[in-house]
Amino acid sequence: MHSDAGRGADEVVVVGGGVVGLACAWRIAQTGRRVLVLERDEPGAGASGVAAGMLAAVAEADFGEGALLRLRLEAADAWPAFAAELTARTGIELEYGRCGALVLAVDSDDVEELRRVQELRHGLGLGSEWLTGRDCRRLEPALAPRVRAGMLTRDDGQVDPRAVVRALREAIRREGGELRAGVAVEGIDETGNRVRGVRLAGGEVLPTRAVVVAAGAWSASLDVCDPPPVRPVKGQVLRLRGGVAGPLAQRIVWTPRCYVVSRPSGEVVVGATVEERGFDTTVTAGAVRQLLEDAREVLPDVEERELVEARAGLRPGTPGNAPVVGPGGSDGLFWATGHYRNGILLAPITADAIAALIHGAGPPPPFRDFAASRTRSEGASLAGSTA
Ligand SMILES: Cc1cc2nc3c(=O)[nH]c(=O)nc-3n(C[C@H](O)[C@H](O)[C@H](O)COP(=O)(O)OP(=O)(O)OC[C@H]3O[C@@H](n4cnc5c(N)ncnc54)[C@H](O)[C@@H]3O)c2cc1C
Repeated sequence: MHSDAGRGADEVVVVGGGVVGLACAWRIAQTGRRVLVLERDEPGAGASGVAAGMLAAVAEADFGEGALLRLRLEAADAWPAFAAELTARTGIELEYGRCGALVLAVDSDDVEELRRVQELRHGLGLGSEWLTGRDCRRLEPALAPRVRAGMLTRDDGQVDPRAVVRALREAIRREGGELRAGVAVEGIDETGNRVRGVRLAGGEVLPTRAVVVAAGAWSASLDVCDPPPVRPVKGQVLRLRGGVAGPLAQRIVWTPRCYVVSRPSGEVVVGATVEERGFDTTVTAGAVRQLLEDAREVLPDVEERELVEARAGLRPGTPGNAPVVGPGGSDGLFWATGHYRNGILLAPITADAIAALIHGAGPPPPFRDFAASRTRSEGASLAGSTA
C-alpha cells in the first residue's frame, strides 16, 4: 500500500530521531530539500537522551585509533559554530562549553596507567598537562585528598544532549522540515538497486528516493539490503541534582572507573557501564551502587546530591568502534550510524557529511575511512573469527 503519492522527489526521509538523525535532518532541510524524520518513540528516546554529553576528543584518545582520532578532533572543532548557530536559530541554550577534562589517578596502578596515556597523548601531538594531586585540588577544590595525580586536557568540552534534541526539533521545524513521532519503520523498499520508499510497521509505504538510516543501535534491525554490523552496547548512567551549591566541578572529572560531568545548571551526570547485553535496558542496583562508589572516591560531595534518575541506553557499536557514515548499497540509501560512545560529539560533522552526500558530493575527507562498504569486510572478518 502506497500513501503520500504527492510527496516530492526531492524529499528525504530520515529514520530515527536521535541527535544524529535530527542533526542530519536539520542540515538537509537547510539545503532546501523537504525532509521528514520518522521516530518510532519520542525524539531522544534512544541513546541521545541518556548520553552524558562529553565532547571529549582528547581525553578519550586511545592506542591505535588513527583516523578515528582525527575524526573526533575535527568533530570537536565543529562544535562551537554548530552550538552557536543552533542556539541563534532556536533561542535554546545548550549548556555547551569547552570546560576541559581532568583525568585522575587515585592509586599507584592508576598513576602508571595515566603516565602511559600521557605519553600516548604527547606522541600524537595532543595537548595535555601532568598535574600533582595538589594541583588537581587547586583546580577542583571538591576533589578528595586521595587523588594522587591528574592529566588536564583543556580542549575537551560538554553539552546537554537533551537540550540539543529540543533545539534540533525546533530548528527542523523552523526550516520547514517535518517530524513524526510514534511511527516505526520496518524496512526500506529497494528495486533495481534504487530506493523506492520506506515501509512502516503495518505495511504502509511512504515513497521516497532518499533515506538516511540513523536508527542508532537498531539500525541493523531494519529490513534493508546489506545493513552494517551495528550492535547495542548498554550503558547505565546516573543523574544527580541539588545539595551543595553550584556545580560539583568546573571540568569533566574522569577516573579509570567512571566519569562525572557537572553542568552549570547544577545537574551532575555519573557514568557509565559498558555492557554487552543485547537490547536490555534494565537498570541494576549493582550498577547504581558501583557508579556512586566510583564517583564518591574522587568527589565525596556526590553523596549530598539528590539522585534524580538512573537510566540505561544503548550505544550503537560496530566491530571497530567507528561510525558508519556514507552511501549504502542502493542509490538513495545513506547510513549515519555506529557512533558508539561519541555520537553527540560526532553529530555535527556527520550531519554536514550526509547533507553534502545527498547534494551529490563525494564522501567528505574526514569520513573517507568510515563508509558503509568497510563494514562489509569487518562483518565478514568478525563472522570468520567467531566461527
Ligand atoms: C550511557 C551513555 C553515555 C554516553 N555518553 C556520551 C557522551 O558523553 N558523549 C558522546 O558523544 N556520546 C555519548 N554516548 C553515545 C551517544 O549517546 C550515541 O552515540 C548517540 O546518541 C547515537 O545517536 P543516534 O541518533 O545515532 O542514536 P539514538 O539516540 O539511539 O537514536 C536512534 C533513534 O532511532 C529510533 N528508532 C530505532 N529504530 C527505529 C525504527 N525502526 N523506526 C523509527 N525510529 C527508530 C529510536 O527510537 C531512537 O530514538 C553515550 C551513550 C550512552 C548509552
